[in-house]
Amino acid sequence: MLTINEIFYSIQGEATRAGEPCVFVRLTACDLRCSWCDTPYAFYEGRKRSIDDVLSEVEQHQCRLVEITGGEPLLQEDVYPLMSMLLDRGFTVMLETGGHRPIGRVPKDVIKIMDVKCPGSGESDQNHWQNLDVLARHDEVKFVVKDRVDYEFAREVISRHALSSRVAAVLLSPVHGVLDPKTLSEWMLADHLPARLQLQLHKLIWSPETRGV
Ligand code: SF4
Repeated sequence: MLTINEIFYSIQGEATRAGEPCVFVRLTACDLRCSWCDTPYAFYEGRKRSIDDVLSEVEQHQCRLVEITGGEPLLQEDVYPLMSMLLDRGFTVMLETGGHRPIGRVPKDVIKIMDVKCPGSGESDQNHWQNLDVLARHDEVKFVVKDRVDYEFAREVISRHALSSRVAAVLLSPVHGVLDPKTLSEWMLADHLPARLQLQLHKLIWSPETRGV
């Protein structure tokens, strides 16, 4: 059984699959409290559903790209069989994780989009640094950047771990409504940073508060 917050079909707003139709499976609960979290409704709201029930709803959307997100999806043990069963049925599976839980048991064909938490989140001491050693080439690493301190933290981590040569993409995402994307772009250009600016497409298409998109 899994506690599910919501399942919906929308446009992928983040990472290198941005712009593609995607089915999202949002799992309930998170053990972090990032200062800029945009899904606090996923901390507690949700209902228990069987894996078969979740698979059946995903298949109804007739879309081969699925993202498992949260909250923090790796808090629920049954997320592992769910990911395996989606892969077995031929779906391309992405996993959004906060980067503080070990990722070693995630099936290898799942594309992990893993956060490294910057100081402005208030949760940077929770980063599980060993995760950087088990990332696959197809994975992506995301830094949500609130200010210059966060930017310099991300720049240092990218350099120290040679991230851009080890994963498919290194993403820098400005906190929506807090850090001007233009400012972040200028910092990245000045440093020739080997990373990709990410804007949350769904917040540009729909209002930032809209849920289920
Ligand atoms: S890890 Fe994700 S869901 Fe949890 S508090 Fe941070 S942003 Fe929100």
